[in-house]
Amino acid sequence: MVDSNFAPYILPFFIPHVGCPHQCVFCNQHGIAGVGQAVTPAQISQEIKKMLQRPRDHNRTVQVAFYGGSFTGLDLSYQRNLLGAVSPFIRSGQVQGIRLSTRPDCLDGERISLLLEYGVSLVEIGVQSLAGEVLQASGRGHSPEQVSRAFSLLKESGLRVGGQLMVGLPGDTRRRSIDSCLGLIVLKPDCVRIYPTLVMVQTPLADLYQAGLFKPWSLTKTVVVVARMKEMLDHESIPVIRMGLQAGESLHENIIAGPYHPAFGELVLSRLFFKQVRRALFEAVGSGKKGVRLILSFRDQSLFMGLKKENYLRLQAGGWLQDVEVCFSETQPRFKVAVA
Ligand code: SF4
Repeated sequence: MVDSNFAPYILPFFIPHVGCPHQCVFCNQHGIAGVGQAVTPAQISQEIKKMLQRPRDHNRTVQVAFYGGSFTGLDLSYQRNLLGAVSPFIRSGQVQGIRLSTRPDCLDGERISLLLEYGVSLVEIGVQSLAGEVLQASGRGHSPEQVSRAFSLLKESGLRVGGQLMVGLPGDTRRRSIDSCLGLIVLKPDCVRIYPTLVMVQTPLADLYQAGLFKPWSLTKTVVVVARMKEMLDHESIPVIRMGLQAGESLHENIIAGPYHPAFGELVLSRLFFKQVRRALFEAVGSGKKGVRLILSFRDQSLFMGLKKENYLRLQAGGWLQDVEVCFSETQPRFKVAVA
């Protein structure tokens, strides 16, 4: 697992739908971002100045992010205007990077040159799935091959590349989600986000759901699959920078159905932590150890206990905590379980 203590400060700007000629079945950018109008260069400059005046940890970098819509699908002059508003802060060293998200089929040499010219450091590609059937059923309008091509183009240019995956899309299965994650690992992303598929108002998916043609995954199934994907990415040391959508009033108001939980990422981490603790105890008992001390970071107490003490109660019910002393230590690294 990756400690996020040194994660950059991200100042996000949402570009709702303006750069996107598509309508993926699940997408309601206005609902997710809670912002109905495109941001202007003047607003960007003002927001950056405000952010720089706030007290912050100067060991952490500051980055500007353009999310929502498909940035590189915007008119080139508008892209220049938006990126140009950040440029003075990049040149002065007050902002250390720009990241943005886009579709895999909205990238070519000209667009990539523009990103390089303005100091973009990371491009996140909306991959969602690498199963052709899922992409088609979700109205993505691009193929898995276009995802590979986008990664190659960006990597060859020296830009860092992130990948966004979704689980539980129309036509998706556990196997297809896991295979998509494996396929993404092959493309060597610099970071990954994983989102559950939610049914939002005013989307084609809402119509499918109401007609009984789409059944969202349960929260439990989604957590289990995303936890497996996180394990696979951790194994390759690929940072998972988000699991689940950012909780917010506008998001909450716009969800009709689906595996939503305001602390979705915590649920996934908590499941992984439970497995780690159980494995460590299994190995200790298997090697004949008596009077076991389980040592955990004091910052992992809530992960150990789980939501509504679920992990703790499961360990207890399974007899795993018999004769075990649980110690929360200030020196034990986070997410690491030791047995003494
Ligand atoms: S490509 Fe992105 S912005 Fe466009 S409809 Fe699909 S999810 Fe929404």
